[in-house]
Amino acid sequence: MPELPEIEILKRHLEPRLEGSTIQGVTVFHPRSVRPDTPEKLLEVLADRRIQTVQRRGKFIVLQLSLNGRDSHSQLIIHLGMTGRLFLEPASASIRKHTTVSLSLGKQALILKDMRKFGRFTVDTTSIDKLGLDPIDDSLTTSYLFSRLQSSRQSIKVKLLDQHIIAGIGNIYAAEALFESRISPNRKAHELMRTDCARLIRAIKKVLKKSIRFGQGLDLDFAGDTPSNGLFYFGSHGTRSAGSSERFAVYGREKNPCRICATPISRTILASRATFWCHSCQPN
Ligand SMILES: [Zn+2]
Repeated sequence: MPELPEIEILKRHLEPRLEGSTIQGVTVFHPRSVRPDTPEKLLEVLADRRIQTVQRRGKFIVLQLSLNGRDSHSQLIIHLGMTGRLFLEPASASIRKHTTVSLSLGKQALILKDMRKFGRFTVDTTSIDKLGLDPIDDSLTTSYLFSRLQSSRQSIKVKLLDQHIIAGIGNIYAAEALFESRISPNRKAHELMRTDCARLIRAIKKVLKKSIRFGQGLDLDFAGDTPSNGLFYFGSHGTRSAGSSERFAVYGREKNPCRICATPISRTILASRATFWCHSCQPN
């Protein structure tokens, strides 16, 4: 599943291509992909709206919409789920297999293709209303994180995945940030000291920013039938995935030597999720 860096890259690619476009129509091929809205509701809210800005909140893309030059206070929330991919195609292009929603923008169409259908296009803001702080802006402070961890007996790894505390971190970057900060994923959240929180925040910012730089340096991952079919997502298509995972220090590297101390990387399951760490660099 794409995490903050992948969505940030996607947002940066979409910004110049979508801002200023007007939504002329919406075609819903799979109603599940617009839940909790109905296709009718989606069309009613989106029709004739102009895309004012393209933003990112955690792992969500948010299109701010205006109507007749005024802020319409409506937003289109996009989440890619497990297998969602966005395409920007000529309006005349034929419909791809697994297309779930298509937004007509005049000469082009913004398309969500999603094999497993966990991705969503919705105008319901519930999923972003209670998101926590964004880890790459300055609002995330040691005091904030320390206070949010104080009352929890869950592991720090599980708390990093809690989007109500910090929005945008998933399984990959939780593992990478904990390794970078030399904190064991098994440590109880309330046991972290202020200094641990400060180190963890620095590590989170470092691994996310490094990954964004990596993504910006990649060519667009064109996966369509013609060169104009841009797939605005990197990291999990064809041969790209191998190159992407090489940059990780612990994620997906079970039994491989730690790059710091050569201890084999451990893998365990925490709250049903695979967790990778070096038990020597990150003692419990
Ligand atoms: Zn190590």
